[in-house]
Amino acid sequence: MTEKILIENGMVIDGSGDDPEVRSVLIEDGVITALGQDADTKAGNAVRRVDASGKTVMPGLIDAHCHISFDEPSSNDELFFHRREGLAAITAAYNARKVLLAGVTSILDADCIFNVGPDLRDAIEGGLAEGPRMAVGGNALLTSVGGAAGTLIPDEGRRGYARIVRSRDEIVAEVRRQIKHGVDWIKVHVTGLVPRRRMKGELTVWTMDELRAVTDTAHDLGIPVVGHCRSAESTRDAARAGFDLILHATFMDEEALEAVAETGCPIAPTLTFQANLMDWGDKVGADPALKDIFRREIEGSAETLRRAYDAGVPLLCGSESGFALTPYGDWHWREMEVFHKYLGLSPMQAICCATAEGERIFSGEKKVGRLAPDYLADVIVVDGDPLKNLAILGDRSKLAHVFLGGREVDLSRPQPMRRPISGWRLSPFAHRILTHEVAAGKE
Ligand SMILES: [Zn+2]
Repeated sequence: MTEKILIENGMVIDGSGDDPEVRSVLIEDGVITALGQDADTKAGNAVRRVDASGKTVMPGLIDAHCHISFDEPSSNDELFFHRREGLAAITAAYNARKVLLAGVTSILDADCIFNVGPDLRDAIEGGLAEGPRMAVGGNALLTSVGGAAGTLIPDEGRRGYARIVRSRDEIVAEVRRQIKHGVDWIKVHVTGLVPRRRMKGELTVWTMDELRAVTDTAHDLGIPVVGHCRSAESTRDAARAGFDLILHATFMDEEALEAVAETGCPIAPTLTFQANLMDWGDKVGADPALKDIFRREIEGSAETLRRAYDAGVPLLCGSESGFALTPYGDWHWREMEVFHKYLGLSPMQAICCATAEGERIFSGEKKVGRLAPDYLADVIVVDGDPLKNLAILGDRSKLAHVFLGGREVDLSRPQPMRRPISGWRLSPFAHRILTHEVAAGKE
């Protein structure tokens, strides 16, 4: 028998950007089949009614930049050297539920440690674990110059989320290998941090030919490519090489802006990590020098990102959840606030970036991110009006219902409390150096 759910009396934000209005949403067998009067008429008697009076009904959030396998490390050392394969998969499953309980119904996990991403996606799809819909990559491709972890990255092989490719042949072989193992995306770390090179953002560590080797190979096999690009050159080159999504795209110049506008390559700026560090880094002992670097990155990139948006480049919301500064479940909403505050998007525009635009993570294979007929019934019901205050989308006490494919998620069942795992976190000997002066209390 068809299972029918009618969510009624709620203020509906449908993801299209249209003004919200009070209307019903009908779900049948996991899919939205009607809205408004049509929904009321079709509902009939054998229907479960959900009263959303005074609440907002909207698509579940889509986080286009979530590292589900990292488990909130406080440093790259921890991430690269303190993780074990089996346990990484188990903690990822634990964390996936936290993400879903925050009203996030889809995520893109573009790169994972070991092969956790594809395995977790399949476990969720197979009903073994509870979590959002996932689009996943495998290990990120890096040249031997490295990525954002400096010399922690070896010259060859794999460490953590990084797979080092040293030649065109290795690039082609690795892209094919990952696709054989079921990735939805290929991730490339187009920029990296290099000592003694001072530049805006990071250094571009791939040549145009190398980038094209990735996109040609992946596209031939029907798989899109996403790039980490923290500079003007990398953003320009990735767009020209046919990338399908760019993460960050900070520090764009006119040429980069032109390249993304011309190709229409979507961007997930993912400024949440920087914004969190900027606003609350002091509370968690973050390096004060980073605070300024990140403030400059946000403030220095807001204008070009806004111009890209105005030129029709789709912006997606990503939170970089998975680090100590962006724990799972807490910050998936914040990119909307950053878009509103720094890029000047309206709350409605920001919500569209976190819902309808997010559909792109599935490359057209899943209809998500809108409340419209034929779309998968990924729906959240929120107590209050996010158009007045986006932050309520981050307040779990305001989250009344989450439906994933029409199935209601049990928000009343608390996540089991976790305790420390031996060897999993960094355990420093000391937080400062014990000199004579420190011992004598002179410093
Ligand atoms: Zn990331």
